[in-house]
Amino acid sequence: MDNKEQGSQKHFSFEIKKKMQGLGRAGVIKTPHGEIQTPSFVAVGTKATVKGITPEMLEGMGAQVALANTYHLYLQPGDELVAKAGGFPKMMNWQGPTMTDSGGFQVFSLGEAFGTGVSKVASGEDIVVSERKGYSKSKKFAHIDEDGVNFRSYIDGTWHRFTPERSMEIQWNLGADMIFAFDECTSPLAQHEYQREAMERTHRWAERSIVRHEELDPENKQALFGVVQGGRFQDLREESARVLGAMNFDGFGIGGSFNKDDMAEAVGWVNRILPEGKPRHMLGIGEPMDIFAGVGNGCDLFDCVSPTRVARHGRIYTADGQVQIKNARFREDFTPLDSECSCYTCQNYTRAYIHHLQRSKEILGQTLASIHNLHFIVKLVDDIRQSIYDECFEEFKDEFLKRYYTK
Ligand SMILES: [Zn+2]
Repeated sequence: MDNKEQGSQKHFSFEIKKKMQGLGRAGVIKTPHGEIQTPSFVAVGTKATVKGITPEMLEGMGAQVALANTYHLYLQPGDELVAKAGGFPKMMNWQGPTMTDSGGFQVFSLGEAFGTGVSKVASGEDIVVSERKGYSKSKKFAHIDEDGVNFRSYIDGTWHRFTPERSMEIQWNLGADMIFAFDECTSPLAQHEYQREAMERTHRWAERSIVRHEELDPENKQALFGVVQGGRFQDLREESARVLGAMNFDGFGIGGSFNKDDMAEAVGWVNRILPEGKPRHMLGIGEPMDIFAGVGNGCDLFDCVSPTRVARHGRIYTADGQVQIKNARFREDFTPLDSECSCYTCQNYTRAYIHHLQRSKEILGQTLASIHNLHFIVKLVDDIRQSIYDECFEEFKDEFLKRYYTK
């Protein structure tokens, strides 16, 4: 890795600048590629690209950090090739701070959840369905054992194996500033007994991840985050936070699965125990309501593919909630997507134009919508951060959520 900093100089730090009542805080993470003001929304570039968005556009919308997926880049184009290119940040021409995930979530999402339509956030309905249907489908796509996991490539069906050590090696090759220990991300539907088994295995994998990381990266150029698991269960979440919090990690991820109704509470259980002075990343969460809950309960970083994924299908975030731009009522609407938005799209284009582009399946329609949605979420988290400094987080939250979720 190309890094001019030498010797004992610290490559990574976190400083809390302002605390709220309760667990929430604002701060600054320092990385070899710049600072991150927290709380912050992390742009997801799954395959080393935020789909349809250039790094210049990302910078223009105020994105501070980009995250790529270990699983996807390992399969295509391969982590060794990415290493030859100088790491994924260099390959994609993104100058700012970066992260990669552990690959563990994809083991879950392309394994157990494959074909069931169940995401990492369960609603009450999902749980009822699962108790009826059981899990028999899962075994075909991923096999988890004590040492690691065998899984099938979603591209060509070939079998591959991840272990904690392998995840560290792949993430070293990918070259992000912040990486995650290998974890097993369970289904939100899994019961207590299995959640405990998976959590304890994740803790053993965390220790192995630390050992391999130290061998690969003795100067700690890459910050290593441990991932707290434990599903919906308070005793397990607290135990996971205690065990991982005592390990030598630079920060922590809080992994799925959550129950939608008690997500805020579950995050609170964890963050009351994790060391206060280390950053906490709520993995895969991007709904405004959930971001407020996460910040209020002490999370510093959030990432989610939703803003760009739904944008490509015409769903647009506005201060008054989401709209479907392909809807006929926007055909002759010559106002911006959101009249209060300062993004490139809203400064230069109309709803009618983006309606037309999306209906006629023009690539630019997806790009313009993605710029807007990503800007919307990045700015929302920026505004949340400002509200912490201004000591009006609760007021800002009530005002925003009331408008966003009332149609
Ligand atoms: Zn906009």
